[in-house]
Amino acid sequence: MNFEFTDEQKLFADSVRRFALAHLEKDALKRAHDPRFPFDVAKLMSAQGLMGITIAEADGGQGGTLTDAVIAIEQVASVCPRSADVIQFGNFGPIRTFAEYGSAAQKARWLPDLLGGRAVMSLGMSEPDAGSAATDLATSARADGTHYVIDGTKVFSTFSPDAALFLLYVRFGPGVGGIGSVLVERGTPGFHIGAPSSFMSGEEWCELHFDNCRIPAENVLLGPGGFKKQMASFNVERLGNTARALAFGRYAFDKAREHAASRQQFGRPLCEFQGLQWKFAEMAIKLEGAQLLLYRAAANADRGLPSAYETAVAKAACNQTGFELANEAVQIMGALGYSRDTLVEYCMRRTRGWMIAGGSLEILKNRIAEHIFDRRFDQRKRHADAAE
Ligand SMILES: Cc1cc2nc3c(=O)[nH]c(=O)nc-3n(C[C@H](O)[C@H](O)[C@H](O)COP(=O)(O)OP(=O)(O)OC[C@H]3O[C@@H](n4cnc5c(N)ncnc54)[C@H](O)[C@@H]3O)c2cc1C
Repeated sequence: MNFEFTDEQKLFADSVRRFALAHLEKDALKRAHDPRFPFDVAKLMSAQGLMGITIAEADGGQGGTLTDAVIAIEQVASVCPRSADVIQFGNFGPIRTFAEYGSAAQKARWLPDLLGGRAVMSLGMSEPDAGSAATDLATSARADGTHYVIDGTKVFSTFSPDAALFLLYVRFGPGVGGIGSVLVERGTPGFHIGAPSSFMSGEEWCELHFDNCRIPAENVLLGPGGFKKQMASFNVERLGNTARALAFGRYAFDKAREHAASRQQFGRPLCEFQGLQWKFAEMAIKLEGAQLLLYRAAANADRGLPSAYETAVAKAACNQTGFELANEAVQIMGALGYSRDTLVEYCMRRTRGWMIAGGSLEILKNRIAEHIFDRRFDQRKRHADAAE
């Protein structure tokens, strides 16, 4: 067992860090408070080979591993937390599902702009009545000659105010087997995008309404029966949220450490107070443990899709650790940490969201329990007659 990065991984981490320091450090605070997608950063990252790290070279990607993409998130986040969202988009988000299952024609049409940082994609899975119970989704896709007609509403989609392309989970028929996915372009007649709403993090999302929205049959990504495949590739997205949560926690930890080493009260640096030393020790224990779980899930996936169990364990640990560290960092830095002049409070607000998004802590724990007991626990209400 080797807990060290390879020489190649160390070189890669170093080159990403140098890139981030040269191009992203200066406006890190401003970027964090701008809700819109940073296309300028995406274009820079594309030129640097940081988009499509895990996507095959034949599709315009870098043909790298999931661990490489995790390293990229960590290095970028350590300099400019907000820019790590671009690494997420270009490597972990719906783009990865699209690259995994898209047809050659679909990829040729959309991947160049997405990987070039000229366009962004958004995932429409959640609906007003289908959150954790994702298979309750009602947005329908009805065949009509050479087209499909989409009807329904999606909510909470990240990057929806800026996205040119939407990957939607839809229902072709009843039950889990009736679920698949389609690609819908912004501007398609019958597709209405509502006014932006804000999350606590400052990120914006729009309600997406589909009213008799006709799309060509070529825009079907996965037909009926596609749900399992979608969820398998969604584990990559989860791992991106996992990596960002921990990286944001580490960012806040590092800022608090610097602050505690230099800020003096009662005539001594804060780090000399044992009450704060033990906070740092507790934080380090959580950080190191969660970090190993993240690397295990990424390394075992290599160039493929990560295991659902390892992803669930890593995401739960990193989501909790990321938030707890950022929250403690605010406390350690006092009013300065609570101020919008530092990025520590931003890290706290962002990490809070990942405890809900992309598999809430509770849903992850349900999955972990299923692994422990090696059986499925149906969360749905049983009918009285079925229980008899
Ligand atoms: C920052 C952020 C970004 C997001 N981005 C996207 C996106 O890009 N695309 C998209 O489609 N959606 C997105 N979402 C939505 C996200 O997927 C949902 O918030 C998530 O699935 C939970 O659904 P819900 O919010 O409706 O909560 P609900 O499902 O209503 O759950 C409410 C609470 O009950 C708990 N709960 C529910 N069922 C169970 C159960 N069986 N056992 C134990 N506890 C349970 C949940 O864990 C939660 O704490 C995003 C959300 C956030 C916060």
